[in-house]
Amino acid sequence: MRVVVPLGHKQMVGIVYAEHTQPWNDTIALRDILLVLDTQPIVTLDQLHLWQWISDYYMCPIGDVMSAALPAKAQDRQYSLDARTRARVRSHKYTGVLEPAHALDAQQQFACNQITQTWSDHPVILLHGVTSSGKTEVYIHCITEQLAQGNNVLYLVPEIALTTQLTTRLERVFGNQLLVYHSRVSDGQRMEIYRQQLLGSTPHVVLGARSAVFLPVRQLGLVIVDEEHEPSYKQQDPAPRYHARSLAIWLANQQGAHTLLGTATPSLESWYNVQTGKYGYVAMTQRYQGIQLPQITMVDLTRQYHRKEMYGHFADPLVDRIREVLADGKQVILFQNRRGYAPYMQCVQCAQVCKCPDCDVSMTLHQRMRQLVCHCCGHTQTITTVCPHCGKEMKPHGFGTERIEDEIMTLFPGARVSRMDLDTTRKKDDYQHIIDAFSRHEVDILIGTQMVTKGLHFEQVSLVAVLHADSILNQPSIRSYERAFQMLEQVAGRAGRSGAQGQVIIQTFDPSHFLFQYVQTHDYEGFAAHELNERKAYCFPPYYRQITLILKHPNETRVQAAAQMLQQRLACSFGQRVSGVILPSIARAQRYFVRQISLRIELHANTVKAKKIITNHIDWTLAQPSCKSVIIYSDVDPM
Ligand code: ADP
Ligand code: ZN
Repeated sequence: MRVVVPLGHKQMVGIVYAEHTQPWNDTIALRDILLVLDTQPIVTLDQLHLWQWISDYYMCPIGDVMSAALPAKAQDRQYSLDARTRARVRSHKYTGVLEPAHALDAQQQFACNQITQTWSDHPVILLHGVTSSGKTEVYIHCITEQLAQGNNVLYLVPEIALTTQLTTRLERVFGNQLLVYHSRVSDGQRMEIYRQQLLGSTPHVVLGARSAVFLPVRQLGLVIVDEEHEPSYKQQDPAPRYHARSLAIWLANQQGAHTLLGTATPSLESWYNVQTGKYGYVAMTQRYQGIQLPQITMVDLTRQYHRKEMYGHFADPLVDRIREVLADGKQVILFQNRRGYAPYMQCVQCAQVCKCPDCDVSMTLHQRMRQLVCHCCGHTQTITTVCPHCGKEMKPHGFGTERIEDEIMTLFPGARVSRMDLDTTRKKDDYQHIIDAFSRHEVDILIGTQMVTKGLHFEQVSLVAVLHADSILNQPSIRSYERAFQMLEQVAGRAGRSGAQGQVIIQTFDPSHFLFQYVQTHDYEGFAAHELNERKAYCFPPYYRQITLILKHPNETRVQAAAQMLQQRLACSFGQRVSGVILPSIARAQRYFVRQISLRIELHANTVKAKKIITNHIDWTLAQPSCKSVIIYSDVDPM
């Protein structure tokens, strides 16, 4: 239950975690509880166990876990479980007609049977189904079975996938048994869903983004993690820096429930767990109705530029193909994973680049807003066309979605064009409007960042183009190839989802890159084998556990010194498992200089002990006068 306790001059709301009759060490002073807010528990014992596990595993205070786990309303002392504020839980209460689930096709039926069989000895199953194989139908089938047995189901999707496309589909089948829980649902509604689950009622399927794992779902029969490879399942900031897939599996295990991880492009972690026999495996290799996977064509930009066969950032073959598709009355998706007009402004004479005053990041040109914007901290400034150093001209370099939009409108003045990126989806319903308009074919060409790759289904898209694949490949991360493969395969998966085979055109300066061979043949297994070999050779995950320590301070000398001190102590305990002090790719962010230290720990090692040693070294470092006010935290299983 929640209680109010005095802390310093403040009164704080907390949860009773355990009972003590006397102080357990002499630095502790006991305070009286001023007020008990609840008449019945607001948190279950299972939840407290999960919180404790998160706190231990992800090396963060349990209070941080509580802040993330409890809905905002529950942290407000005015809220009462009993006198409920009549929040309209389902402002969109479903009154339409319920439809039976679609009949499964042979492949889906086979997959469902396999899933049921495999669950008997593998509580976690990876459902590896190519794009548009109809994974949603398989989920619906599994959910129906659970609800019939009176069990609850938790269905996790990446935040962005929570559009009406999926919600509408599920609502038609499950009606008011469907609860939707994500950041765009109001605080009142979130609290009401929490309350319903806590007090227990008829079986529900809770569809939610990663934070839904914190709901007190009782009698859990099944947890589905759709698009399990999605990096957005990992919370970056603030703590707890948890991975919702790991929490989901833990939660299911705790309650004896089953887990289904679904994707067309498994994370290497999950793939590895299948290889080692830890997870069960069920595959669907065909698209629904036997449609062919899209045909992928590479366009060599070096050659195109050399021959001057380019229009702006579009190679001639791509322009021709777009023209044909439009003439055919079909739709096009153009993918460029950068928003804004151009990623940087550079002086034509001295090559100076315009940078954010607070971050080690170049300012992105946003033509529509007539501003330069830092994508790290949001700082904006007016567009400078004169170099502050030499007085010569500053010109935009590279290209983002805005520039593509301008170029396509010049190339195809008659086409109806829409753009989907963070800038065009700031308001609550923007994202929905863009998708609806494109679904209704009121738009011919949709330009977008990776938002357009996420599980969307459009009937009329016959061409998808990736404008600059090199920018996806060359990311400073050990996962950059894995991400690139996933992104390309997912974006390609939007093409030709009904009717004829779709086409994908990938523009790149490096068409012979090994990754494209695998993408072209949709060869996930080949790619995964190749990449796992590399990971093994370099002692990277999933062969080793990774923990990254991050240090921050506004003074560079201080943070560097602290990092060196900490690194030396860690090296004494962990030897070769510790990296040197790393300068991250963004070495200064929001006025803080950043340093990192990375640890790789054997899978079979005692991580509890390792984490304890790490925590001790961090505490020791923080206690040094020269390290005063340095911020140090850990990121376990960083992405
Ligand atoms: P995935 O999630 O595997 O990419 P979806 O579940 O979105 O694929 O299915 C792709 C399309 O095929 C959807 O429009 C879906 O309604 C349709 N579909 C799949 N299976 C069936 C089925 N058994 N009956 C009717 N339509 C289906
Ligand atoms: Zn900045």
